[in-house]
Amino acid sequence: MASFPPAAVSSYRGRLAPSPTGFLHVGHARTFWTAWQRARAAGGTLVMRMEDLDPDRSRSQFAEAALEDLRWLGIRWHEGPDKGGPYAPYLQSKRRAIYLAAWRRLLRRGYLFPCRCSRKDLEAALGAPHERMADALSDKMDPLDDEPIYPGTCRHNIGYTPQLPGPTASEGESPEGYNWRFRVPDGEVIAFEDQNLGLQTFVAGRDFGDFVVWRRDGIPSYQLACVADDTEMRITEVVRGADLLKSTARQILLYRALGLTPPAWYHCKLVVDHNGRRLAKRHDALSLRALRQRGLTPMNILSADLPVGA
Ligand code: GLU
Repeated sequence: MASFPPAAVSSYRGRLAPSPTGFLHVGHARTFWTAWQRARAAGGTLVMRMEDLDPDRSRSQFAEAALEDLRWLGIRWHEGPDKGGPYAPYLQSKRRAIYLAAWRRLLRRGYLFPCRCSRKDLEAALGAPHERMADALSDKMDPLDDEPIYPGTCRHNIGYTPQLPGPTASEGESPEGYNWRFRVPDGEVIAFEDQNLGLQTFVAGRDFGDFVVWRRDGIPSYQLACVADDTEMRITEVVRGADLLKSTARQILLYRALGLTPPAWYHCKLVVDHNGRRLAKRHDALSLRALRQRGLTPMNILSADLPVGA
């Protein structure tokens, strides 16, 4: 196994995009390994981008642990927070201006509306069991989780253009103070060919609703940041877990709204525990840290035989 990746000889650009909200587990290891293998096979470039958008959930100790665990596995990248590169900074927390520009473009093209609904309003409109809804609608919701279909309460605000008074007015519109949602084309089939799983289809408004692109607490959403970064970093193929298939459909709508061509998609099958549930950061016993401490090798972790229910 080479210690350092050879310089890229093709235009393939892939990325590793961990969220430093916990220790990486076996599922991440396999997805990132696949991303690395595909970049290598293509003679391309691999980018490490730290998705530390949410200051409440991200921790620098998890970011450092992610880099260290992935190096231990044998994965190497060409560009990243530890290496620099032409599209630095590689930390999402330092890329706000890029997200703001994307938000403005979407707003000016008429795709966004400000949503004033509180969590309580949405719970009432959706009539869903309180606890599940509370979790799903939380501002601090795991971006990888599914969210309930937005009931459309604030859609009539489409076209509203907020201006900040005072010295910042010259910079144009500001998202501060609202949740901003992307209005999805109800009933439209979003189809894409996945390099691993084949044809995927989702129906806008049925499989997912108007989604948040900028949060009331001032944080851009995963969907917006991901599209803005993958575009700016010239990513040609996104390798990620199959839990993000629906997010990919949402992101395809953002690419289209921004007049951009999406990358190719390769979704990896999920690693599940003995109950058939996908692994999450709460599965501490399956974190790479814990497995390393138990003496497992990178080969053990990447092998399909690892008893993940153990
Ligand atoms: N940051 C996300 C994660 O924790 C992945 C995002 C992506 O690959 O688009 O797994």
